[in-house]
Amino acid sequence: MLVDVVVEQAVVVIVGAGLSGLATSACLNNLSIPNIILEKESFRASLWKLRTYDRLKLHLAKEFCNLPHKPFSHSAPAYISKDDFIRYLNNYVSKFNLSPRYHRLVKSASCDKLTGRWQIEVENNKSGETELYITEF
Ligand SMILES: Cc1cc2nc3c(=O)[nH]c(=O)nc-3n(C[C@H](O)[C@H](O)[C@H](O)COP(=O)(O)OP(=O)(O)OC[C@H]3O[C@@H](n4cnc5c(N)ncnc54)[C@H](O)[C@@H]3O)c2cc1C
Repeated sequence: MLVDVVVEQAVVVIVGAGLSGLATSACLNNLSIPNIILEKESFRASLWKLRTYDRLKLHLAKEFCNLPHKPFSHSAPAYISKDDFIRYLNNYVSKFNLSPRYHRLVKSASCDKLTGRWQIEVENNKSGETELYITEF
């Protein structure tokens, strides 16, 4: 039995505030579909912030690298630098009103075959609480 568990209903739960998670959330927000992003770190796009060297540029041209609904500007160089890409992601988050929940380490996710609902167990590594997210559909 789980003790001291915070339980929350959600329509869509997205694991990770990387590029995929941010893009998915933006598309859902555009469709007015409520969603929650759970991110284990204290910031978004951890791969780009923690695991890339400073001189890095995207190795594909900019037209192949933008996230949905926000192309890079015409004046941007063909190959975007790491810093410009992180700036782009920050603007993306503002533009689409994205608000990941940080310090949330997803421990497990399972789908109840009878109800079709997902249950996502999360460790809040700031408060120490266990959180349970249960999808509504
Ligand atoms: C050096 C380099 C150069 C690249 N160049 C290009 C390029 O030119 N063009 C291009 O399109 N792509 C490029 N990519 C690829 C692109 O960065 C990746 O495809 C993209 O980051 C994948 O996004 P993602 O959201 O799927 O995964 P990630 O970016 O890895 O994000 C996953 C997120 O989930 C979080 N997470 C993981 N596990 C959990 C958990 N259990 N609970 C909660 N949160 C969790 C992580 O902290 C992370 O924030 C490059 C990648 C690298 C490393």
